[in-house]
Amino acid sequence: MTGRPSVFLDRDGTLLKEVPYLSRPEKAELLPGVPEALATLSREGNLLLVVSNQSGVARGLLDEGILRGIQTAVDSKLSDFGVTIDAWYSCPHHPSVGVAPQRRRCRCRKPRPGLLERAGEDWEIDWSRSVGVGDDVRDLQAFAAMGMPSVLVGTGKGRMARQKLAESGMDPDLYCAHLAEAVPWILSRTSGARKG
Ligand SMILES: [Mg+2]
Ligand SMILES: [Zn+2]
Repeated sequence: MTGRPSVFLDRDGTLLKEVPYLSRPEKAELLPGVPEALATLSREGNLLLVVSNQSGVARGLLDEGILRGIQTAVDSKLSDFGVTIDAWYSCPHHPSVGVAPQRRRCRCRKPRPGLLERAGEDWEIDWSRSVGVGDDVRDLQAFAAMGMPSVLVGTGKGRMARQKLAESGMDPDLYCAHLAEAVPWILSRTSGARKG
């Protein structure tokens, strides 16, 4: 077993400033500290895998080409910091809005774990040393479905999500104001001895 530790990252509100149904690459804005945080995580040997619900596609607000354009814009900003996102995974579906084939009950829309499973087919991942980071309850649910610990960041919808979790008596494994603050904790998980 030679799997690599991986950091699964939600896109909107975690890496990028939250813009509802972002559909213009030039509006993609990395949150403060994110490039430096990703540079550290990558330098320590972690795969960087983005997992993102993009129901704006099903809703007809953007298409897969625009989605790739946004990824390219972010990749280009990150390359200035020597950072490469290893893979982008998105769910374009919505269970009840839009038209087929994007309108369907899929396995990849978080909180379901389909995007993570797809990553697991593409990469040799050491799940016991991997971590998920997101700003929404459904991110954390998807990570939990794969048995991963998770970080809730206070950017994007994170503060609201923290409140929702507290009301249902749940806690994330770690709550941080933003991704950069979570880096030491993430590294303590991903650089530990291999388990199991
Ligand atoms: Mg989000
Ligand atoms: Zn889907």
